[in-house]
Amino acid sequence: MVKRINLKSANVARSNTIRDINRQIILNHIREKSPISRAEIARFTALQRSTVSLIVEELKSIGLIEEIEGESSGGRPPQMLSLRTAHAVAVGVDLGKKRTIVATSDLAGRILEQEEFLTDKNFEKTIERIIKSVRYFVNKNGGSIEGIGVSIPAMVEPRSGNVLLVPHFNWHNPAVAERIKISTGLPVTIDNDANAAALAELWFGRPEITQVRDFVLVLIHKGIGTGIVFDGQIYRGKGGIAGEFGHMTIGSDAPIACAAGKFNCWEAFASERSAVARYGKLLKKQNGEGKISFTELINLALEGDDKARAALKETAHYIGVGIANLFQGLSPEVAIVTGTIVRAWSLVIDDVMAGAESATCQGYPVVKVIPSSLGNYPTLMGAISLILTDKFASVSVT
Ligand SMILES: [Zn+2]
Repeated sequence: MVKRINLKSANVARSNTIRDINRQIILNHIREKSPISRAEIARFTALQRSTVSLIVEELKSIGLIEEIEGESSGGRPPQMLSLRTAHAVAVGVDLGKKRTIVATSDLAGRILEQEEFLTDKNFEKTIERIIKSVRYFVNKNGGSIEGIGVSIPAMVEPRSGNVLLVPHFNWHNPAVAERIKISTGLPVTIDNDANAAALAELWFGRPEITQVRDFVLVLIHKGIGTGIVFDGQIYRGKGGIAGEFGHMTIGSDAPIACAAGKFNCWEAFASERSAVARYGKLLKKQNGEGKISFTELINLALEGDDKARAALKETAHYIGVGIANLFQGLSPEVAIVTGTIVRAWSLVIDDVMAGAESATCQGYPVVKVIPSSLGNYPTLMGAISLILTDKFASVSVT
């Protein structure tokens, strides 16, 4: 994936711009198709063989790629290229509403090690615990860590990386990036959790997703977050808070209140908390919410529990209703749903689509929904993507 070049800010005086672009193209081919030979790269990219060889040597010299022996078909084994993945290069911090994960990753986005702890509502306690983990991983990897990416359920100013507000904990302007930066001396990149997860889909998602230019990521968790990708780039809006669709109005009688105390927002109808509350009501318990976790609800549904399935299916209906609204407003190519609910996708997909159909007014646009393939840690993968994408997009040889 080559970043779209912003012609307003591109430095046109740079004589090696074309070469930088070719370097990114070749690096991305190696990243996506490794192991791959020089001849294959030349064929896929239609670049001159000599250009490919020259750039490959540069990428080797700065330690991004390495040569490995391919499988021999009789004669001398072919020399293949792959990303250099021996070291941890990034630390990802997934600061969640319930738990925080700190993990190291190699260049290919593989998680090498991770630590997990409960997020404390006291910011000072949480940031101290994060710094402890980050420093442990940075020291342990002896200088190979190049940056720290942070995913946070918050409004984040895109240019400065300032966190304005974490609604769930009511943290105003917590100095997340600054504190980690000061204590490690490493660059820190921070973004809203849904934006980070959308970036992870662009970077590590299924091939059919990484080819898509316009999509909406729907992160179903305690609330609902959405990440909007236009033309292969995250759309953040003026103040960086685009994608607050979790608070669009869906109805008036949701089973729970949204984070701001309203009973008509999408997240009050279609979040994990709403599914748990519906299950509680089906059990005819007062204050059903909180009795079981969403993960337990999913497990019960997968084991065949009728009430758990009914609670999930009703929630899925409203997920579809919201997604239909996104399609009517934005007309993306696809919506990607991510979060624990993906584990029970086969149980809920029909209800998601029926909900979407019921809320599509004139039969158009046609709603297409797919589940994420990034597993249980979409926002952690997002945190790591914040560092890796930057590294691949800005690679240059001086
Ligand atoms: Zn709301």
